[in-house]
Amino acid sequence: PRMEERLYQNRYQVDEGRPHVKINHQAGGDSEELKALTKICPAGCYSINEDGQVEVAADGCMECGTCRIVCQATGELEWSYPRGGYGILFKFG
Ligand code: SF4
Repeated sequence: PRMEERLYQNRYQVDEGRPHVKINHQAGGDSEELKALTKICPAGCYSINEDGQVEVAADGCMECGTCRIVCQATGELEWSYPRGGYGILFKFG
Protein backbone atom coordinates (compact mmCIF):
# COMPACT_ATOMS: atom_id res chain seq x y z
CA PRO A 1 0.00 0.00 0.00
CA ARG A 2 0.94 3.62 -0.37
CA MET A 3 2.65 5.45 2.48
CA GLU A 4 -0.48 7.47 3.32
CA GLU A 5 -2.44 4.29 3.69
CA ARG A 6 0.23 2.81 5.88
CA LEU A 7 0.31 5.91 8.06
CA TYR A 8 -3.44 5.82 8.33
CA GLN A 9 -3.14 2.44 9.99
CA ASN A 10 -1.30 4.04 12.88
CA ARG A 11 -3.44 5.25 15.75
CA TYR A 12 -2.83 8.23 17.89
CA GLN A 13 -3.82 8.33 21.53
CA VAL A 14 -3.90 11.89 22.87
CA ASP A 15 -2.74 12.38 26.45
CA GLU A 16 -5.03 15.31 27.28
CA GLY A 17 -3.29 18.19 29.02
CA ARG A 18 0.09 16.48 28.95
CA PRO A 19 1.75 17.39 25.66
CA HIS A 20 5.07 15.63 25.25
CA VAL A 21 6.62 18.44 23.23
CA LYS A 22 6.73 21.97 24.64
CA ILE A 23 8.33 25.17 23.41
CA ASN A 24 10.20 27.54 25.69
CA HIS A 25 10.20 30.77 23.72
CA GLN A 26 13.37 32.82 23.92
CA ALA A 27 13.24 36.49 24.85
CA GLY A 28 14.91 37.47 21.58
CA GLY A 29 12.42 35.57 19.43
CA ASP A 30 12.27 32.08 18.00
CA SER A 31 15.45 30.70 16.46
CA GLU A 32 15.77 29.83 12.79
CA GLU A 33 16.05 26.20 13.85
CA LEU A 34 12.71 26.36 15.60
CA LYS A 35 11.06 28.13 12.67
CA ALA A 36 12.44 25.51 10.30
CA LEU A 37 10.40 22.86 12.10
CA THR A 38 7.27 24.24 10.46
CA LYS A 39 8.69 22.81 7.23
CA ILE A 40 10.65 19.83 8.52
CA CYS A 41 8.29 18.01 10.89
CA PRO A 42 6.86 15.08 8.87
CA ALA A 43 3.63 15.18 10.87
CA GLY A 44 3.08 18.92 10.41
CA CYS A 45 2.95 19.57 14.15
CA TYR A 46 4.61 22.99 14.00
CA SER A 47 3.06 26.19 12.72
CA ILE A 48 3.46 29.95 13.07
CA ASN A 49 0.68 31.59 15.06
CA GLU A 50 -0.77 35.04 14.46
CA ASP A 51 1.82 36.57 16.80
CA GLY A 52 4.56 35.19 14.59
CA GLN A 53 5.61 32.64 17.18
CA VAL A 54 6.16 29.01 16.48
CA GLU A 55 3.62 26.76 18.16
CA VAL A 56 3.41 23.00 18.41
CA ALA A 57 0.43 20.69 18.43
CA ALA A 58 1.99 17.37 19.30
CA ASP A 59 -1.09 15.34 18.42
CA GLY A 60 -0.07 13.13 15.55
CA CYS A 61 3.63 13.34 16.37
CA MET A 62 5.39 10.28 15.00
CA GLU A 63 8.19 10.49 17.57
CA CYS A 64 10.79 10.66 14.83
CA GLY A 65 12.94 12.87 17.07
CA THR A 66 13.85 15.32 14.29
CA CYS A 67 12.70 18.42 16.14
CA ARG A 68 14.58 17.38 19.24
CA ILE A 69 17.80 17.04 17.28
CA VAL A 70 17.34 20.22 15.24
CA CYS A 71 16.72 22.30 18.37
CA GLN A 72 19.12 20.49 20.67
CA ALA A 73 21.50 23.44 20.82
CA THR A 74 18.86 26.16 21.16
CA GLY A 75 17.25 24.68 24.25
CA GLU A 76 13.80 25.78 23.08
CA LEU A 77 12.18 22.37 23.16
CA GLU A 78 11.18 20.17 26.05
CA TRP A 79 10.73 16.76 24.54
CA SER A 80 9.89 13.50 26.20
CA TYR A 81 8.32 10.29 25.07
CA PRO A 82 4.59 10.08 25.83
CA ARG A 83 3.51 7.97 28.76
CA GLY A 84 2.94 4.31 28.07
CA GLY A 85 -0.19 3.73 26.03
CA TYR A 86 -0.27 7.28 24.69
CA GLY A 87 1.14 8.87 21.59
CA ILE A 88 1.63 7.11 18.31
CA LEU A 89 0.75 3.45 18.32
CA PHE A 90 2.52 1.95 15.35
CA LYS A 91 0.98 -0.95 13.59
CA PHE A 92 3.55 -3.42 12.36
CA GLY A 93 3.10 -5.83 9.49
FE1 SF4 B 1 7.36 16.28 14.35
FE2 SF4 B 1 9.09 14.28 14.61
FE3 SF4 B 1 9.13 16.34 16.32
FE4 SF4 B 1 7.12 14.61 16.38
S1 SF4 B 1 9.28 14.17 16.87
S2 SF4 B 1 6.92 16.83 16.49
S3 SF4 B 1 6.90 14.09 14.22
S4 SF4 B 1 9.59 16.42 14.11
